[in-house]
Amino acid sequence: MTARLLEGKVFAAKLREEAGQKAAELKEKYGITPGLAVIIVGENPASQVYVRNKHKACTELGFYSEGVEMPETTTREELLAEIDRLNKDEKIHGILVQLPLPKALQPYESEVLEAIDPLKDVDGFHPVNVGRLVTGQKALVPCTPHGCLRMLELADIPIEGANAVVIGRSNIVGKPMLHLLLGKNATVTICHSRTKNLAEVTRQADILVAAVGRPNFVTADMVKPGAAVIDVGINRIAPKKLVGDVDFESVKEVAGAITPVPGGVGLLTIAMLMQNTVEAARLQLEK
Ligand code: NDP
Repeated sequence: MTARLLEGKVFAAKLREEAGQKAAELKEKYGITPGLAVIIVGENPASQVYVRNKHKACTELGFYSEGVEMPETTTREELLAEIDRLNKDEKIHGILVQLPLPKALQPYESEVLEAIDPLKDVDGFHPVNVGRLVTGQKALVPCTPHGCLRMLELADIPIEGANAVVIGRSNIVGKPMLHLLLGKNATVTICHSRTKNLAEVTRQADILVAAVGRPNFVTADMVKPGAAVIDVGINRIAPKKLVGDVDFESVKEVAGAITPVPGGVGLLTIAMLMQNTVEAARLQLEK
């Protein structure tokens, strides 16, 4: 069997279209243009590419977008002051601090993320949003796992009652993925580096999400025939070669549906950021 290919561009286009429609509604009813501010500290080249892509997505959807570039030598106080300014700026509905921060600021990462107004926290990393997600309340949810969930829904892959297995327990992907799937009534198991008999667990999965950060980690023998396999991993194995956490060539012969890397989940993240920016604007309006 060859699995159905879940192409990121197809779902990303739908999610962007949804974001555009919701934004048009906000504009029409309330005269609000969603605004996103992205703070980048230092000169990490990969981060600069991500920030440019975010700006481009905003422009395409007619959002207001502000890029705040701060030097490598920025202090904790300067960064917190900038966040405070954006928290108070009514044009800005979403604030995102591009990670990783330069080394000198890394000890303050939690403090920096918690300084963002939870209603403007479009990355969904603030403990208030984490708590709201866990308790099933309206929340701003991290973009990558949220994109995975929306893709499963748009692809009509049954979630309710399904056995879902997530490999990886990071705050950015694994844990929010667990809660999103649980919220849709899947039976969810989360695995990590201390999990025993991993393949035995993953073979139970109707939905298998890999967020490990190890090239080609999930092999065909770990996958239940017909399962939906979502590959979150992005691993650079040569200067111009990216692979996922799933051994695509072997797994596609067993799985029922599979996301490629590149061209899969990675494309959904920015589309979900646009959705979160609109959602943040709505939440602020309700407030
Ligand atoms: P982390 O490194 O924070 O987490 C990796 C997880 O994998 C950990 O929970 C770790 O377990 C687990 N793990 C590591 N080795 C094993 C093993 N041998 N068996 C089982 N579990 C294992 O990574 P992230 O969650 O941040 O990212 C995961 C991947 O997703 C990366 O490739 C990253 O680049 C990609 N990514 C892609 C995004 C996108 O598409 N836009 C966004 C974010 C991430 P333990 O906790 O025990 O150490």
